[in-house]
Amino acid sequence: MAKPNILLIYTGGTIGMIKDFKTGVLKAFDFKNLLDKIPELQLLDCHIKTVSFEKPIDSSNMNPEYWVQIAEIIETNYNKFDGFVVLHGSDTMSYTASALSFMLENLAKPVVFTGSQLPIGDLRTDAKENLITAVQMASLQENGSPVVKEVCLYFEYKLYRANRTTKINAENFKAFASLNYPELAESGVHLKVNHDYLWKPDLKHTLIVHKNLDTNIAIVKLFPGLSETFLRTVLATPSLKAVVLETYGSGNCTTEAWFINLLQETIKQELHIINVTQCVGGSVMMGQYETSNQLKAIGVISGKDITTEAALSKLMYLLGQNIPKQEFKKVFETSLRGELF
Ligand code: ASP
Repeated sequence: MAKPNILLIYTGGTIGMIKDFKTGVLKAFDFKNLLDKIPELQLLDCHIKTVSFEKPIDSSNMNPEYWVQIAEIIETNYNKFDGFVVLHGSDTMSYTASALSFMLENLAKPVVFTGSQLPIGDLRTDAKENLITAVQMASLQENGSPVVKEVCLYFEYKLYRANRTTKINAENFKAFASLNYPELAESGVHLKVNHDYLWKPDLKHTLIVHKNLDTNIAIVKLFPGLSETFLRTVLATPSLKAVVLETYGSGNCTTEAWFINLLQETIKQELHIINVTQCVGGSVMMGQYETSNQLKAIGVISGKDITTEAALSKLMYLLGQNIPKQEFKKVFETSLRGELF
């Protein structure tokens, strides 16, 4: 059987950084040197080609224009490769990977994001394991077709559905978690794939790459003491179309009249408000408590068990699709890429 062809896309991040000896600051460096540092890649049972951002970035500088660049690299090379591995800084990896999951409709090949907490040149680096196993995950084939057919994130022995992940640790090698969805695969002595949890796309359709993302959105995190003036100012932002409201627990908020009235006014002005929990695990269940019942009554959209990262990128994607206002709630509350139950 022919060896799978894998495209490695380097966007930047710690994995490819080196320390500036004078300042001690980590900076992105040339990708070609990065590959020289991992000769083990040549031993893998696949053909690897690489492509790099002209100027690799720290992922804190990531934005939707770069998301489109990544999507276009995949689109251009889609028929030539069996799988894609995207090297990306861990800071905003869950945002980018979630966004790509929506942008790549009918994806039928693996797109595996990975990175590391320590640079690849560091003696104790986690980069080698992450990169090598991410490539192996992207190379998995069964009867000549890829095992994984979705956007994933591989970090510290676990392969996750990308749009279910969140960065939870800035220190630990286990930097990501997917608290509302089981891991898709695990790396131990063997690679163990949890076939039941993999996304099963309808293979009749061909890849559609969506590049129109609308960034007229905001995230508001509730906190005890949030003022009416602040919220009113945010909601009056010109061109604002939707807000991710990070609520407490299972989607609860204050029952104070000013708050509910302001949200109701906002929804009447045709802004979408999405209820997402601040908790890293669990789900919004509007109507379970008195403190969320009113949200349901005024037409707030339930984010169910979606992450903030996925809610944000799903909003940018859906707003870019010009979905009729009356259908928006139903579409948002429906799982499009396995991002919510
Ligand atoms: N600041 C880095 C980045 O996100 C951290 C990392 O790569 O893990 O690009």
